[in-house]
Amino acid sequence: TTDTEVELIGKQEVLPNYIPRDKFSHKGQFGHALIVGGSYGKIGAVTLASRAALSAGAGLISSYIPKCGYNVIQGAFPEAMVITDSDEEKITSIKFDIEPTVIGFGVGVGTDTKTASALETFLKTNKVPLVIDADGINLLSKKKALLKLLPEQTVLTPHPKELERLIGKWKDDFDKLKKVKAFSKKHKLIVVVKGANTITVFDNKLYVNTTGNPGLATAGSGDVLTGVITGLISQGYNPLVAAIFGVYLHGKSADIALEDFGYQSLIASHIIDYLGEAYIDLF
Ligand code: AMP
Ligand code: MG
Repeated sequence: TTDTEVELIGKQEVLPNYIPRDKFSHKGQFGHALIVGGSYGKIGAVTLASRAALSAGAGLISSYIPKCGYNVIQGAFPEAMVITDSDEEKITSIKFDIEPTVIGFGVGVGTDTKTASALETFLKTNKVPLVIDADGINLLSKKKALLKLLPEQTVLTPHPKELERLIGKWKDDFDKLKKVKAFSKKHKLIVVVKGANTITVFDNKLYVNTTGNPGLATAGSGDVLTGVITGLISQGYNPLVAAIFGVYLHGKSADIALEDFGYQSLIASHIIDYLGEAYIDLF
């Protein structure tokens, strides 16, 4: 439509927002990212998102998971601090005594009713910026009243199925974006519409990403994106810039990793491992 601005996002567009590091930086300046999620059999999603948040540049990372994942995360990812729910297999309360800069919620979390209540209770008092993905989005779709409890500029990162549950079916791509714009405006949320050309929607503007490739169509790829965006907000990027820059870096990392792994063998962990190259490629 004529009243909608569309911007293609490549290196030249993200560079002006890049926050350089100075010689005297210390980890306290880059925030404390918290990833909340996981359930029995899906602890890997939290591991991926947490590793991605730290590799994107967060100063500290904590992972909040059901008890059964404790040894998994501690063993796989020694850099993380781990907080456990009282339940073995799912999240039943979201309570912690740390002061996170940002929280990434939802990867692998499931849609148990106890998890839904935990989310609602948490949202009623939460003031921390949020990134919500995966079953976190599905929980919002199941109880739309929760949308009112989200802080302004919360970042939602739905894949097509999650988006459909959230905003309903669309007729074509044009109709889809129209619905997303209306949803984003109504709830003052940033919506990252994931796909081959991921589009970030906020304030009647569409930011169309130009990096990424079909190698990203693989398990856990979205969990890594959640971590990257969370890690960017942690170190001081505002949520909109973090969403746009995060999608760019995630895709760029996969583009560089593609040269070593090819479409078929690229897996989500590689996207994390190549984030550094995506940063280095900026200059
Ligand atoms: P999820 O479905 O939550 O694991 O997220 C998948 C991630 O991979 C999103 O960031 C998508 O934008 C990205 N992705 C999936 N398929 C493609 C594709 N064919 N080309 C580029 N990116 C893709
Ligand atoms: Mg996903």
